[in-house]
Amino acid sequence: MASRIVRAACPHDCPDTCALLVTVEDGRAIKVNGDPDHPGTQGVLCTKVARYTERTYHRDRLLTPMRRVGRKGEGKFEPISWDEALDEVATRLKAIAARDPQAIVPYSYAGTMGLVQGESMAARFFHKLGASLLDRTICASAGATALRYTYGASVGMDMETSPTRSS
Ligand code: SF4
Repeated sequence: MASRIVRAACPHDCPDTCALLVTVEDGRAIKVNGDPDHPGTQGVLCTKVARYTERTYHRDRLLTPMRRVGRKGEGKFEPISWDEALDEVATRLKAIAARDPQAIVPYSYAGTMGLVQGESMAARFFHKLGASLLDRTICASAGATALRYTYGASVGMDMETSPTRSS
């Protein structure tokens, strides 16, 4: 089966910007490796991205919105269409916005970064609704605080202190 290596950069919101070598077979990515020639990371990827293809093609991966049909914690859901999901979310958000927009916690984050996802549309959307304000960070503030406690300043990592190359 013909396969080829495609060069890529990690799309996550992460300062490492690891270089990726993606093995593609018949138009389908089957493996993601770090690029050993990338000076900063020397072929090392974090666990989540090194297993990107497993996650992408995992049989348990959610491919459609799921609506809870049981009590919270009961684990009962039914698949619904995107149109149904968007209509339901819009109906509920509108009702909250009409009652008290600041009751809406504007929780969203970038995930895979792009011009649309990267804190642009979500912020506009929640601002338009009149939602409350929120420090939009999951790991950055916690990480910076941990660095200050540990090193005295949020200095980050010295790129020359690279991790050991993985096989
Ligand atoms: S592969 Fe992991 S460590 Fe490297 S840039 Fe992506 S998220 Fe960051």
